[in-house]
Amino acid sequence: MPAVERQLVSALAHSLHAQNPKIVVISKNAEAIVKSLKEVYPTQVSIEAHSTLVTAESAAHADADGLIIDQAINEILENVDELEKFVKLALKLLKYNGVAIIRQDLSQSKDSKKVAKLTDLFDVYRTEIEGKTTGFAFYSTTEVEDSIHAHQNWLDFIWSLKKSEFEKVEGNTITFRDFLDKTQYTDTGIYAYEWIFGENFISPGGWDENLRVIRRFGDVKAGQLCLDIGVGIGGGARQFAKEFGARVLGVDLSANMLSVALERVQKEKDTRISYAICDALHYNFDENSFDYVFSRDCIQHIPDTAALFKRIFHILKPGGKVLITMYGVGYGTLSEKFKTYVQQRQYYLKNLKEIEQLAKSAGFTNIVTENMTERFKEILGEERARVEDNKAEFLSKFSQKEYDSLVNGWNDKLQYIADDNHNWNCFMAQKPL
Ligand code: SAM
Repeated sequence: MPAVERQLVSALAHSLHAQNPKIVVISKNAEAIVKSLKEVYPTQVSIEAHSTLVTAESAAHADADGLIIDQAINEILENVDELEKFVKLALKLLKYNGVAIIRQDLSQSKDSKKVAKLTDLFDVYRTEIEGKTTGFAFYSTTEVEDSIHAHQNWLDFIWSLKKSEFEKVEGNTITFRDFLDKTQYTDTGIYAYEWIFGENFISPGGWDENLRVIRRFGDVKAGQLCLDIGVGIGGGARQFAKEFGARVLGVDLSANMLSVALERVQKEKDTRISYAICDALHYNFDENSFDYVFSRDCIQHIPDTAALFKRIFHILKPGGKVLITMYGVGYGTLSEKFKTYVQQRQYYLKNLKEIEQLAKSAGFTNIVTENMTERFKEILGEERARVEDNKAEFLSKFSQKEYDSLVNGWNDKLQYIADDNHNWNCFMAQKPL
């Protein structure tokens, strides 16, 4: 059975738990998908197959539990109105909590941001259906494995979405992903950060510091599997692959970040690396599947650290290791300015003692924690000097606004450190054998 169709069906089964499901398929290759569906749901599945979006319109209000749409939006990729109509149709075909799997190969698109734009549309589009504010709850944008390994194409995507009713949201950002992409991680923000942190990194110290951090694992071997949580524009994933020969799944919730990582891996063709846009707190990674879980300066964004640590424990192989660096809170009296900064960024900061306690509660052993704030201070000083000493070059690429924002931001962080408000923490631990 063709591997791609099998992956589409397994993506549906991963999120759809209905008994006797009704499934609508829209694909020129519907026959292969139907065959695969019948294998996964051997009895009592009802399937309606269409070869185009136009014929599928007749099935609107199909009350389907599942929807697989394969390469059906090729012709409308550049037309925002048609794309919105498409999302509306997909919503109409499904019942509430029904799951949509949309596969689209974007390797021929000239727009490297297309994956971010489609993810954004699927995540934030809302319409009124029978008086309810309706849209898709975004679950993930993953890649077609077969396209990576057989065709060296990292731009063949599968979106997993669930039809849901939403509260009406006032304001500029609709979901947390939307918040990340519209505030801290806009395209300009990402490239300005990369300028200061170093090529491919959005974290203190760039490549060299990251290598120092990864080396703490001590024993990474070629072929082992690592999950990089909050991979950003891909620096850590590339380092795992290039320096150690490891295989890496890099995940990030910011579609802007990942679209940069994807553009780069598509040029470099490193088949050890794959990426997904998803919320690491909610994505169901396979149990006992990773040798290492790694994360650089991401988890301050994640509200429930306890749940995250339990999830990491669950997905590590017995004996597998986790290593996380994170922004944390110190032990001094918090200044009003620091509190505002934390609130605006929507950070959830923990001190090192809390991290150690949470790691123990999750079941980890061999827990090592380290307060790296002194090193953070050193790096911040070096990075600030680099921007100030190379102001003209920075301003040839970015505006005065970005310059001020970085220099002021770095000055503020140094003050937060002096007040023992801002810490930089590290924790490493192992899942018992
Ligand atoms: N680790 C990368 C590096 O070292 O260059 C990027 C670090 S950046 C400071 C933090 C990253 O965490 C951002 O790319 C952000 O989008 C991501 N992130 C935030 N919340 C997330 C979540 N719930 N799941 C996955 N990634 C998340």
